[in-house]
Amino acid sequence: MTGSTKYIFVTGGVTSSLGKGIISASLAKLLQARGFTVTIQKLDPYINVDPGTLNPYEHGECFVTEDGAETDLDLGHYERFLDVPTSQANNVTTGRIYQNVINKERRGEYLGKTVQVIPHITDEIKRHIQALGRKGIYDFVITEVGGTVGDIESLPYVESIRQLKWEKGKDCLTIHLTLLPFLQTSGELKTKPTQHSVKELLSLGVQPDVLVCRTEHPMQKGMKDKIALFCNVDPTAVIESRDAQTIYDVPLMMQEEGLDTVVLQKLGITGYPEADLRSWSDFLHRYKEPKREVHIGLVGKYVELHDAYKSIKEALEHAGAENETKVHIKWVHSEKLNAKNVAKQLAGLSGIVVAPGFGNRGIEGKIEAIRHVRENGIPFLGICLGMQCAVIEYGRHVLGYSDANSTEMNADTAHPVIAMMEEQKSVENKGGTMRLGAYPCKLSDGSLAQQVYGRKEISERHRHRYEFNNAYLEDYRKAGMVATGINPKGKLVEIVEVKDHPWFIGVQFHPEYRSTVMKPHALFIGFVQAAVKRSEMVRERAEA
Ligand code: GLN
Repeated sequence: MTGSTKYIFVTGGVTSSLGKGIISASLAKLLQARGFTVTIQKLDPYINVDPGTLNPYEHGECFVTEDGAETDLDLGHYERFLDVPTSQANNVTTGRIYQNVINKERRGEYLGKTVQVIPHITDEIKRHIQALGRKGIYDFVITEVGGTVGDIESLPYVESIRQLKWEKGKDCLTIHLTLLPFLQTSGELKTKPTQHSVKELLSLGVQPDVLVCRTEHPMQKGMKDKIALFCNVDPTAVIESRDAQTIYDVPLMMQEEGLDTVVLQKLGITGYPEADLRSWSDFLHRYKEPKREVHIGLVGKYVELHDAYKSIKEALEHAGAENETKVHIKWVHSEKLNAKNVAKQLAGLSGIVVAPGFGNRGIEGKIEAIRHVRENGIPFLGICLGMQCAVIEYGRHVLGYSDANSTEMNADTAHPVIAMMEEQKSVENKGGTMRLGAYPCKLSDGSLAQQVYGRKEISERHRHRYEFNNAYLEDYRKAGMVATGINPKGKLVEIVEVKDHPWFIGVQFHPEYRSTVMKPHALFIGFVQAAVKRSEMVRERAEA
């Protein structure tokens, strides 16, 4: 597109959790499918500098970008929908904004001025919003503001939007996402909370251009006109967003409602073809009309909160669609697993993923799960801590190191088969200090990993402090657990496999961050295939 970058802001009203991330990603997808270049950014109003130090119970998984930023899980949606990598610039928190401003103040860059929310904090927010636009590669920068309009902590963000709209005029557009609650007793949808929420936004000086209304039921006749009248928007700019069967339906639903059309029209952009979503629809078809099904267990300690394992869940579903297989996930609580109940808990599952994590809680359950799948030939994918647990399990039960452990769990073990990386030993701060982001990895000839990836070299994203202790490499190799993926520079073990097993792979990295709708991840595809094979074998055996 010729001309300046357009800025689209997505705010939320009435309540949180309306799915601003999915609406932003869906609009971005529609614009991308019309031939535009788009990126999406998330502004988070909390004071943590990044979500890396947050407990997953707070905000779900921490998503890691190629450049090693620990970010909000919405960035995962952006990447899965758009298939374009994000970076640190795509997620900014209040903590980071204030940290930058305070650092500048300490360096004397404000030349003796009193440093204030307006203009210094808002200038810093605006600088972050426009940094992506200044790269000169994006036609659109979509900025999603976390939280709900009216929250004290989102005020500086809404104020920054007001200023940018004033400065940039026609290059900016605001979409406000609201809720139409359904009153069971009167059987009606109500527009009043939407009206109030728009009033709140207006009181902060921002007139929304488009309203996206989340609703469980179809909007009644005349409702769009009513909302338009009360909120100063065109009736065509009131978009209905019904609850979807899957988040991947939303781009098509938004296309049908004309969200991208009204956005382009309001920004004065004409002459672009309709969004071509054929390959997206092909994915949806495979996803929704699978030929077979398979049951997979996800063993972790945060299983009550599925968002804690968001990218893994999505990666399994992408790989399922690729294999025309419905993947049913059984969420298995690692703390509740023990040697006595493991067979029963994992019964009927054709593959097990052991999840990443930190600290001791649930570790022994993970180890029991791995022992069970290793001894019974059940396909296994261990991710990060899941891989480390596989190494510990093998050490204890095959190599006979009864107290084998990670020094994260037991600093005094006689067999520290997983140990802290050398460069981590002097690190004191918790935030942003792990081995983070993409690193290359060489795969050994003849390995299952190489066969699955169909390549000799890969690059995957990391987030950990501990690693396989290379002092044990040879012992493990002789005993049948082989390192088949190595970081070429540091010689760190990135992948382990068990030789006498149909499909047993542990990876020190996080493949889930790289799985997208259009490019499901090779490891997950291979794992689901192996699980399908296993379930067919079990069925044939039962029938014989
Ligand atoms: N706690 C482990 C480490 O720091 C694993 C981290 C993870 O699973 N992401 O090495």
